[in-house]
Amino acid sequence: MVFPQFAAEPRNVYLCLCTDGFSPYGQSGMQYSLWPVILSPYNLPPEMCMKREFMFLTLLIPGPEHPKKSFDVYLQPLIKELKDLWDIGVPAYDVSVKQNFTLRAVLLWTISDFPAYGMLSGWSTHGRLACPFCMEETEAFQLRHGRKTCWFDCHRRFLPRNHPFRQNRTLFTKGRSKDNINSRKDLKDICKRKELELTRDILAGFKSPIFNFL
Ligand SMILES: [Zn+2]
Repeated sequence: MVFPQFAAEPRNVYLCLCTDGFSPYGQSGMQYSLWPVILSPYNLPPEMCMKREFMFLTLLIPGPEHPKKSFDVYLQPLIKELKDLWDIGVPAYDVSVKQNFTLRAVLLWTISDFPAYGMLSGWSTHGRLACPFCMEETEAFQLRHGRKTCWFDCHRRFLPRNHPFRQNRTLFTKGRSKDNINSRKDLKDICKRKELELTRDILAGFKSPIFNFL
């Protein structure tokens, strides 16, 4: 247990923070980026944590522009309250036992997509150092043909030493959403998926005018 004193008081609150941007005008209307920030208490049974009545809208960051770095500025009052709730707590009344007590709260984790994670954590989620766990220790590399940064096989090192996935060289290249000629050429470099490598038939499927590299 990391904070036994905090855990000893069952009335202390465990909070989750989630956020994501959306456009209130949908696809057809004008460009507008609205960011709700929602807190949920995790003291509840799991099936209740994500119910609407236990999701508290604490911030509604207005558009029309994407907040980008000013996200921090909007978060500031919430962060201050969270720090006070952790450091000092607030006087509260427990009606079930008719007793005053000091209620404290902790931010357990955040839930967001990866770009929003960059805004919440302050760690840039773009480029070679994008992985917030590996940070400068990253083993990311640049694809020889596609020139994009690749994290292929960078995270199996976190598996237990004898985990069977450490040895598996064929099952981790599913998904072809970024499929193009360069990605097929890179595939040959980094893993054994013979059936996905570039052949003349596949090349014809791409309908590319570039034929001179085979
Ligand atoms: Zn990583």
